[in-house]
Amino acid sequence: MRCRVFERILIANRGEIARRIIKTCARLGIGTVAIYSQADARSPHVEEADDAAFIGPPVATESYLNREKIIEAAISFGCRAVHPGYGFLSENAEFARMVEQSGLAFIGPSPEAIALLGDKIASRELALKAGVPVVPGTQEPIAGVDEAIVVAEQIGFPMLLKPAAGGGGRGMRVVREKDELASALEAARDETRKGFADDRIFIERYVERPRHIEIQIMADTFGNVVYLGERECSVQRRYQKVIEETPSPAVDEPLRRHMGETACELARAAGYAGAGTVEFILDPAGNFYFLEMNTRLQVEHPVTEEVTGLDLVELQIRVAAGEPLALRQADVSLNGWAIEARICAEDPSRGSFPTTGIVTRFAMPRGTGVRVDSGIRAGSLVTIYYDSLLAKVIAHGETRIDAIRRLSKALNGCHIEGFATTVDFANAVVNHPAFVAGDLSTHFLEEHFQDGESKIPPREEDLRLLSIAVVLVYHTRQSLVRESLREASPRVGAGEEARVHHYVVNVDAHVFEVEMEADFSGGVWYGTVGEFSYKVVTPKFEYYRRRLKLNINGTSHTFRLQYEENHIRAFYCGIVRTFEVYTPREWALAHHMIRERVEVLENFLKCPMPGLVTAVSVAPGDYVRRGQELLRIESMKMETAIASFRDGEIDRVLVQPKQAVDTDEILLTFKGS
Ligand code: ADP
Ligand code: ADP
Ligand code: MG
Repeated sequence: MRCRVFERILIANRGEIARRIIKTCARLGIGTVAIYSQADARSPHVEEADDAAFIGPPVATESYLNREKIIEAAISFGCRAVHPGYGFLSENAEFARMVEQSGLAFIGPSPEAIALLGDKIASRELALKAGVPVVPGTQEPIAGVDEAIVVAEQIGFPMLLKPAAGGGGRGMRVVREKDELASALEAARDETRKGFADDRIFIERYVERPRHIEIQIMADTFGNVVYLGERECSVQRRYQKVIEETPSPAVDEPLRRHMGETACELARAAGYAGAGTVEFILDPAGNFYFLEMNTRLQVEHPVTEEVTGLDLVELQIRVAAGEPLALRQADVSLNGWAIEARICAEDPSRGSFPTTGIVTRFAMPRGTGVRVDSGIRAGSLVTIYYDSLLAKVIAHGETRIDAIRRLSKALNGCHIEGFATTVDFANAVVNHPAFVAGDLSTHFLEEHFQDGESKIPPREEDLRLLSIAVVLVYHTRQSLVRESLREASPRVGAGEEARVHHYVVNVDAHVFEVEMEADFSGGVWYGTVGEFSYKVVTPKFEYYRRRLKLNINGTSHTFRLQYEENHIRAFYCGIVRTFEVYTPREWALAHHMIRERVEVLENFLKCPMPGLVTAVSVAPGDYVRRGQELLRIESMKMETAIASFRDGEIDRVLVQPKQAVDTDEILLTFKGS
């Protein structure tokens, strides 16, 4: 098992992927050197590596993207190779070249292959030559609007403007009619120039309701190439993946073989070595088209590892060390189903804006078939400087529905506090009936979700199960209070313990009457919610770290519950609701206070997220209209335009470009109305 060729490698990355690579190295007996910026001095990846090199200030361009410094560190720590992870320098051909010129091995493909495949126009051409189907579109960058109009006449609307140098969904624009073309082209150019210092745009037909299906390949330097099945990553927001799975419900064995062999052809044509991913879209008629090839390990690689039983990082290292692939296509077998949820520091209810802060509580799920790859722990600081990905939760099961249930249960037990995350959003996605049915497309989220919430109401049965959990926690707390009062003064409440407890639970527009038998010796409760009966078993009633495990009618469930003054906020299967619990008497007395919502025209523009101001487009005295852009804020690689929420005259502008701002900080004020 021991991999002798590299005694020690440097990992040019951070977060969960750095830890993931360390894990494999430790198993193979390879020493590891981590790198870290000032912002990451106390990160888990730094502690877990055998050594660590400090490389600079938090800003990525001066630390994780500082090629000279990283190579210098690799040499001074006696490393033999560099693993770039994903993101950062992983697809930077120049970096790969510099690594090799320093006498180190780059754990990835050759600089030539990275350069060729990193350019979407060049890789499209390569695909055409290799007989790989591409989306109808242009072979050359677009010179201007006139040419774009000619193209539009050939391929028709809608079409997609794509940056040749793009990645991470940046700079792409869908154009549905001729009138939008000029401004869309301008915007796409601008964004790609800023993001990638390149403004070449090409055009593809926009395929409606496609699925995103990608093939994982593995190639060695001797010309052996195998495919390790597909991954479906159709659940996306802003062209970024949210949930990934393998196999895909849309791919059968003949299609898998066809796509797999096509991907291998492309890899061969590119002279590719190492792990790579060929991305395709699959249209509703079953035709697939090449999108791009990612020349690195992918965020979603764990699902492939779960069903193939392979360690992709190990394979990458062995190939980079010059070993031939030890497996042939016939050796690759796919077992069961695996699904991954990305947990990001983002608020799905606020346009998926990034969130930041200190992780105040952190508890991850465990269990059969559950894998968690995370980059943080309690006390970690999540900053604006890096990607919002915090952790990945992966579930593996025999069938798709097994994997979904396991993943959902694991997410129920995922407790991260300190700022908003996508845990419950991801859970709502995998519980959505359309997801369960495997009815996916890249429009899934637009079609089924709004402001981070499912467009359909929660299932009543789930609300009833939640009512039971909430009542048990509420009742237990009340009993403890009563007991302690009784101890202090034995007459209080004596003889009040009834045989059956009645509660009224109010959630959304539902009112549930819950009855619980008081005697729960042996950890068994009998209860009813409305006309439904439940047997609840909890050998030891454990409400630990805000998590409660209950077996209800023979199935075990994990709930997360949190007191909010008198009410309880509960999280389960993506449902997040505040439950009000009353005794019947309290309920009868309770009159609903309907607070009048007074419409006040605010004079302050508050900052919606933490970040850096990149531009201010208005000055005191300007009259602005509702919806007009006021300024721009960049956070976690994403630039967001902040629009005016009202008409009015600007009074004061309190921020300037390059200034760091925080959520709710006042950015500018309007003249009083
Ligand atoms: P995919 O999501 O298909 O793996 P992307 O090109 O969108 O591919 O980016 C890969 C991943 O790398 C992103 O999802 C993100 O988590 C991470 N990433 C990209 N750029 C950076 C960066 N500058 N810093 C940290 N992580 C990054
Ligand atoms: P990136 O480098 O940003 O990942 P991709 O070419 O891989 O760019 O595209 C990202 C996503 O954009 C795809 O997963 C898909 O959802 C969508 N997409 C790309 N090209 C098309 C197309 N021609 N038609 C429809 N959707 C597309
Ligand atoms: Mg892509």
